Amino acid sequence: MTKKARQIVGAVDIGGTNVRTAVATPLGRILAKDRFPSRPQHSAEKLAERIIVSLQSLAHDIGADINQLSGLGCSVPGPLDRKLGVVRFSPHLDWHDVPLAALFYELLSVPFTMDDDANCAALGEAHLGAARKATNMVYVTISTGIGAGIVIDGRIYRGSHGLAGEVGHIPLERSGPQCACGNRGCFEALASGTAMGEQAREAYRSDIPTSLRNMVSSPDELTAEHVLAAADSGDVVSARIVAMTAVYVGAGLAMVASAFDPEMIVLGGGVIGHGNSLLERARNEFAKRAIAPLGELVLIAPAQLGDDSALIGAAFLASQDAEETGGMSAAAGRGGVHVH
Ligand SMILES: [Zn+2]
Repeated sequence: MTKKARQIVGAVDIGGTNVRTAVATPLGRILAKDRFPSRPQHSAEKLAERIIVSLQSLAHDIGADINQLSGLGCSVPGPLDRKLGVVRFSPHLDWHDVPLAALFYELLSVPFTMDDDANCAALGEAHLGAARKATNMVYVTISTGIGAGIVIDGRIYRGSHGLAGEVGHIPLERSGPQCACGNRGCFEALASGTAMGEQAREAYRSDIPTSLRNMVSSPDELTAEHVLAAADSGDVVSARIVAMTAVYVGAGLAMVASAFDPEMIVLGGGVIGHGNSLLERARNEFAKRAIAPLGELVLIAPAQLGDDSALIGAAFLASQDAEETGGMSAAAGRGGVHVH
């Protein structure tokens, strides 16, 4: 069969709720894909086994075999050690120091590589999404937190300590709200979906008139989505929260633009997906705040690949790393992780 000669890679996107798997071309075109719940009560070992079963079935669907994969790329949430192939901490999955590369290598002898979800989504958007015509781009995700992936010359830039892209902790206000990282006034503490929800709860508990009170039975239920919807239907308090959020998003993106001078900043995450009014306002703020001429030159665009950004990025990662180093399985072995 001529099909056996074609190059394919495996891609996995492990999220807090769902796992998505795909068999793709080395250039990120998805040939077949699958999804199933990540079920945090199951161990990482069981999840890895379930992923391999899914990839086996996808490979079969396209008339191939799982052993033909030239690499396996995986997007995971949380801080990780790429050299050792270990996921340090992932709260939604309740993972602590999970040797993911070793787990996969025991199940499947193909080069394995992984990166965090923001870096994978950045790589996907850079190659096949909103920034496919750009050489240098930054992907910024604004959801419960704020994170970023930086792509320079088509490849992820990770920095000297693997922490490049931690833009959520750019300090914007010296005495701003407390951030989960321990500092005050971080970009994330001011402009994430969590920050918007917090401001909505404050408004709910005050005596200022707001339609936010009619949307939920308890202030604890308020999220950024409520704020964006209420702002769109004319609630003054919510419109003010959106406007302030946009000021901080514009300021944060101006710092990103000054640091990297990208052709494009792509915005992803639930907060942007639900609020075009926020996107427009943030663009205006960015144009005012970024140093000339970057305010005009750097395009701010929403992500285009939806739920597939990180999955497609994981496919690219698999082909890039397999080509260069034979993947992380070898590195994981050298780093002392037990692989056999
Ligand atoms: Zn912080």
